[in-house]
Amino acid sequence: MEKNQIVQLQITDISDEGLGIGRTKEGMAVFVKDSIPGDRIAARIVKSRKTYAFGRVEQIISASPARVCPKCPAARACGGCQIQEMSYEAQLKLKENKVRNNLLRLGGITCNVDPVIGMDKPFFYRNKSEYPIGRDKKGKLIAGFYAGRTHSVIDGRDCVIGIRENRPILEAVLAWMERYHIAEYDEKTGRGLIRNVMIRCGFAAGQIMVVVVANAGRLPHENELAESLRKLKLSAASGDKTGVKSEEASQLPRRIVSIVLNTNTDKTNVILGRKNRVLWGNDYVEDCIGSVKYRISPLSFYQVNPLQTKKLYETALSFAGLTGQETVWDLYCGIGTISLFLAQKAKMVCGVEVVPDAVANAKENAKLNGIENARFMLGKAEEVLPEEYKEHQVKADVIVVDPPRKGLDPAVIGTIASMEPERVVYVSCNSATLARDLKLFAEKGYAARKVQPVDMFPHSVHVETVVLMERH
Ligand code: SAH
Repeated sequence: MEKNQIVQLQITDISDEGLGIGRTKEGMAVFVKDSIPGDRIAARIVKSRKTYAFGRVEQIISASPARVCPKCPAARACGGCQIQEMSYEAQLKLKENKVRNNLLRLGGITCNVDPVIGMDKPFFYRNKSEYPIGRDKKGKLIAGFYAGRTHSVIDGRDCVIGIRENRPILEAVLAWMERYHIAEYDEKTGRGLIRNVMIRCGFAAGQIMVVVVANAGRLPHENELAESLRKLKLSAASGDKTGVKSEEASQLPRRIVSIVLNTNTDKTNVILGRKNRVLWGNDYVEDCIGSVKYRISPLSFYQVNPLQTKKLYETALSFAGLTGQETVWDLYCGIGTISLFLAQKAKMVCGVEVVPDAVANAKENAKLNGIENARFMLGKAEEVLPEEYKEHQVKADVIVVDPPRKGLDPAVIGTIASMEPERVVYVSCNSATLARDLKLFAEKGYAARKVQPVDMFPHSVHVETVVLMERH
């Protein structure tokens, strides 16, 4: 195919990056941004390879019945949401099919896949948002996101994925910058001060942390910054959007409980640096999932969609089938979120995690909740579990795993099978590696019995899946 050639395509699928996929008459796959399954389009080829090509929508000949007008004005430019132009119902169906197809094609798994657990209101769901600071074409300070792969910042204050409070908070920071002539950081030259603003909200009580990321350890007029944020009048978090009960929130003396200066002087696109200094308030926010309380520091990993996280953990808990007598292992446990959730119904939970700070957080969170039947071990799951099994013959009735996208190391699967737990619960953010791993488990006598996808990231192509396996 030639560059600039126009081809007609029926879009039938969507890639992991969110590009629509159609095939030419000759059978060549063309990936087209901003097209969705069901669209019939004319596409202009922008890049052509031997077996596939990339195109741009030239004209929508007939729109997919699933097409809707995106709620966010910047949906296309931003790239954070890949399928906002698709009705939410169609998004859920797409995700369900993706899980089913991957399990079948890549894993030979024929187990029934339940409909995806979606959100009632799939907007304003993210408890953490990060906004780079820049200037628009007219030179006015803005907070938003990088357009495509460029360094130019586009206004993102009206993002419909983050909480509504983000906008007034960002405006207070920008007003402070204007007032005291504080420069924004320039990625190209490495000059300027303010790089990013990260806002994190514990939905349970509406507590908010504001982290200002700067190219320095001190800021001129930093007290004034803290002061203006503290004075900010944020409306009580509305229950329907954030899960916060309004009576509870309106009793709060203030919503912002923590203002932190994070220092990042590296020339990097990593947002946060290692150093934090509290400008005012706590160095954490608190959140609850179910009845378990968590303290979250600026650098901690924490699930970004708390309403759906609860449903995810409840699914994992119900699949674990605990009676109170079981010894449970929770591999890839992060800050112990699933472990502490399970500990309420188990005899003992052992969490394994490779990041030292996360293990420290997990231990603190256990203490905070008075949970005494959870312990946490630092190390790689593929090393800790085999060692513990070989040297101490540790046992497990149930094993839960929640690995990163690349899935499980075969050593983990082998050791789990040798330990012969009754049940294995696999929480996965990548159904392709999940399928590969389920196949290995099947060879070792563990059959998938239930598959429950959960939509943690509405308007993106990502989907989380919980699988129950049993020994046969
Ligand atoms: N279950 C947690 C975290 C899941 S994210 C939650 O729901 O919040 C996956 C976690 O696996 C991350 O915390 C990451 O640091 C950890 N991890 C990555 N590779 C690992 C390995 N080889 N061994 C143990 N943990 C690992």
